Amino acid sequence: MKLNDSIQYVKGIGEKRAQTFEKLGIKTVSDLLYHLPRDYEDRSEIKNICDLIDGENVCVCARLTASPRSFKSRNRLMVTQTTVSDGTGIMKITWFNARYIENQLRGDREFVFFGNVTYKGRNAEMVNPVVEVYDGKGRKTGRIVPIYPLTAGLTQYNLRTAIENVFEKLDERIENTVPDKIAKKCLIMDTETAMREIHLPNDFESFKRAKYSLSFEELLVMQTGIQMIKGDRKKYYAEGFSDVKCVGEFAKTLPFELTNAQKRVINEVCADVKKNIPMNRLVQGDVGSGKTVVAAAAMYSAVKSGFQAAMIAPTEILAKQHYKSFTKMFEGKNIRIALLTGGKSKAKTEALSLIEQGEVDIVVGTHAVLTESVKFKKLNLAVTDEQHRFGVKQRATLSEKGKNVHTLVMTATPIPRTLSLILYGDLDVSIIDELPPGRKDVKTYAVGENMRGRINKFIASKIAEGRQIYIVCPLVEESETLTAKAVTEYAESLSKGAFKDYKIDVLHGKMKAKEKDAVMERFAKGETDILVSTTVIEVGVDVPNASVMVVENAERFGLSQLHQLRGRIRRGVHEAFCVLFCKSSGEFAKERMKIMQETNDGFKISEKDLILRGPGEFFGVRQHGLPELKIANLSEDMEVLKMAGIAAEEILKEDRELILPQNQNLKKRVMKRYEEVGGKGILN
Ligand code: ADP
Ligand code: MG
Repeated sequence: MKLNDSIQYVKGIGEKRAQTFEKLGIKTVSDLLYHLPRDYEDRSEIKNICDLIDGENVCVCARLTASPRSFKSRNRLMVTQTTVSDGTGIMKITWFNARYIENQLRGDREFVFFGNVTYKGRNAEMVNPVVEVYDGKGRKTGRIVPIYPLTAGLTQYNLRTAIENVFEKLDERIENTVPDKIAKKCLIMDTETAMREIHLPNDFESFKRAKYSLSFEELLVMQTGIQMIKGDRKKYYAEGFSDVKCVGEFAKTLPFELTNAQKRVINEVCADVKKNIPMNRLVQGDVGSGKTVVAAAAMYSAVKSGFQAAMIAPTEILAKQHYKSFTKMFEGKNIRIALLTGGKSKAKTEALSLIEQGEVDIVVGTHAVLTESVKFKKLNLAVTDEQHRFGVKQRATLSEKGKNVHTLVMTATPIPRTLSLILYGDLDVSIIDELPPGRKDVKTYAVGENMRGRINKFIASKIAEGRQIYIVCPLVEESETLTAKAVTEYAESLSKGAFKDYKIDVLHGKMKAKEKDAVMERFAKGETDILVSTTVIEVGVDVPNASVMVVENAERFGLSQLHQLRGRIRRGVHEAFCVLFCKSSGEFAKERMKIMQETNDGFKISEKDLILRGPGEFFGVRQHGLPELKIANLSEDMEVLKMAGIAAEEILKEDRELILPQNQNLKKRVMKRYEEVGGKGILN
């Protein structure tokens, strides 16, 4: 059996069951091996019956003292009972609805029973224990037993035996990815041993080492990939901006005084772009801290120095909003700005040719800017707004439209500081840690359905004061079409019910650009009272008069996402309120809602989010551009991540292109991983 074989050839699986395995994403033998236990149960301890303690989970090795007896109980359950003895005492055993167990208990031999011990008076008893014949090497008992993530139609037994069969029949080595030298230094187990140990641990110590080894391996692949993408930028020559002084003049024309934090960050940016090495700076600042004007200042300096600048934003709404504010900020300053979004039009074709001829100074747009048809004459500043919504590769694509351009990426810190330093290791980081004056915290309330009436009255009173309201509904099963339908229906029900006297509009991702514009326009002008929307308004949208944000099914959102949503109403001069309708009363949901009520600090929230949800969901595969981690857990494995980062650096320092023989397995894994996220060709 080979690693790339279909699992239908694994003993006991076959064609039909293979389809069920596929639901877990398992197609090949290798996939099966990487389907790791989600937990373990320690069934390694075998005790004498006389030593059993009430309430413990433990194995007992004993013989039956009487044949099992089955009967129907009064509430029509099938009950099977027997008693066993190990020479130190007697224990009663009961199974419910498991008459087949009688067949397993045949013969005068020793069995191992694993279960929870209870005492009825002085008599020990187990209910529904796991049982197997004692032969010195247990499968289900007498060891640490893996517990796998399952799907309907599969049992733990199916997975355990499938994996055991693979280990028995595999006639191909599972190769090491970590080069020997690094493996030795970092105490990494060889991959095959680690694989066995993680599925069939001998003891917790060796299991821990196995887990560490496989996590390290996975993170090394990730770190090597990231570092290769980043490249050794500092080696390159960039053209510096000749005029950064103009930024001071520009600041004077703004309708507000910059905060000290904004001034500091703009100075840091200016110091970078003057140099002959490409700037590579991340600006982190909470929602509403005023990052846009920092980008504007940098772009202004680029243009006044004779270059073009480009800025991409993750949604069309946001791109258009930036376009508008730049148009206003740069009014009368002799700067030509173009907006580029998806689709085709005559105007767009014209714009493309103007950009290529250098007749446009600043381009603001969506992903559309990244397409091949967009060519610049002298791009020297690339800005990515809300960078967490773009992949590593996409950011690189924008920069590649010029030669060694200066890059600025901006984020509202959905990634905790520690993590961003490692994931974006070679970025210089500037932090805007101050909000413009007068911004108050958004009062946040997590409520249940029982508060619906009161909240509706509250909303009505706010509208009476002249304010506007956002109501946000979650995505439906990740399908935009269904989501659009749900949001539209919800808005309709509101306009017939509680809010029939108000003007309600709907906004969702499936709408045509023109329709979206019209909706945003009406809302911005104050013509609409309530905007019912999906998370398309999550990033950046700025309507100061809106002061209430209602989130339906808030438990389905990530904390950072809720914080971003809440940021939509922290802009104006009005007191702002966020209402989180929460359908779940579970501890997890409660804990998260509590955090939202307690703090308005984006840094704190993102750190909690990472701890509570784990990085898989925290990032969301589609959002961060990195594939999911199967083994490592970024919130627990920070130290391992750091080590892997250093190791990757060490490897690449010696072998930038991964040509050396000892790095070939690593190279293969890196290629595979980054192809999965569309990063093909990163190595050439
Ligand atoms: P974010 O950091 O979330 O991108 P924006 O750049 O969109 O924030 O700024 C939010 C709002 O604050 C905008 O309306 C902007 O004009 C305003 N703003 C930015 N800086 C200042 C300042 N120093 N004083 C007052 N208002 C500011
Ligand atoms: Mg912004």
